Amino acid sequence: MELWYTEKHTEGRGITIKAKGTLYQEKSEYQEMTVLDTEDFGNVMLLDGLVMLTQKDEFVYHEMITHIPLYSHPNPKKVLIIGGGDGGTLREVVRHQSVEKAVLVEIDDVVIETAKKYFPEVAEGFISPKGEVRVEDGIKYIKESNEKFDLIIIDSTDPIGPAVGLFHQEFYQLCYDRLNDGGMLVAQSESPFIPHMQQVIKDMYGNLGNVFPSVNMYLAFIPTYPSGLWSFACASKKYHPVNDFQESAYNSDNLSFKYYNKDVHKAAFVLPNFVRELFEK
Ligand code: SAM
Repeated sequence: MELWYTEKHTEGRGITIKAKGTLYQEKSEYQEMTVLDTEDFGNVMLLDGLVMLTQKDEFVYHEMITHIPLYSHPNPKKVLIIGGGDGGTLREVVRHQSVEKAVLVEIDDVVIETAKKYFPEVAEGFISPKGEVRVEDGIKYIKESNEKFDLIIIDSTDPIGPAVGLFHQEFYQLCYDRLNDGGMLVAQSESPFIPHMQQVIKDMYGNLGNVFPSVNMYLAFIPTYPSGLWSFACASKKYHPVNDFQESAYNSDNLSFKYYNKDVHKAAFVLPNFVRELFEK
């Protein structure tokens, strides 16, 4: 008998992945954690039944949510990651020579512990001496912390449950106040191809635009995310993510990537017409 995992992206479309079996399942205080073993994508992490990451394509998301802002800022030393409990974003951030400290604030320690057990190659970020891991609500942290950062990365779930507030203008204002001069914020911003996500994008970029002087969308292809076309919001106090590309840091770090490179960095900000139209008044 064949076993298939299906995630519905809308009432009329979704993704189906051939599974070998369920490796783990646990209901945490915040969400339902499931780990599947699958034919084509290796281990797959689901939160409340939605794909969070797979061993086969996680590199796209984690390289693109980190190296684009980190190579758009002249000297990013301190980074804050909100969410990101699988460790993949942290893994990529600490590879940069300029980064001295990365604070990760994840609300659910079940995600962290499950990632360490079933996605060790993703969770390797947790062993870095540059990393500080806190298990708490990112909104509470940002309200109570007086630390300042050069980059804030919001690597959150969709705007449901504890993540709802991470898409609100008040939260973006709190982040703005915790950023140094020249600071940047990047957030995963759903798929411009999925109708109900288009409204999330309009609201989210409107909220960011009310706080930051410059906000740009960039895109990446992630096969296991809704429609495969995924977006990220890059909000900046000063530097432009394309015009201020840091070629010298990129060359001196000389890191190896599976998706990102300096040409992808620039091309990712070129938007198809139907995406541009989401931002037209
Ligand atoms: N890459 C995935 C995606 O794009 O959907 C998300 C990665 S990570 C698994 C998302 C994390 O955000 C989850 O572990 C979730 O627990 C965390 N999260 C949601 N709301 C949060 C909050 N208010 N504070 C901190 N972490 C939060």
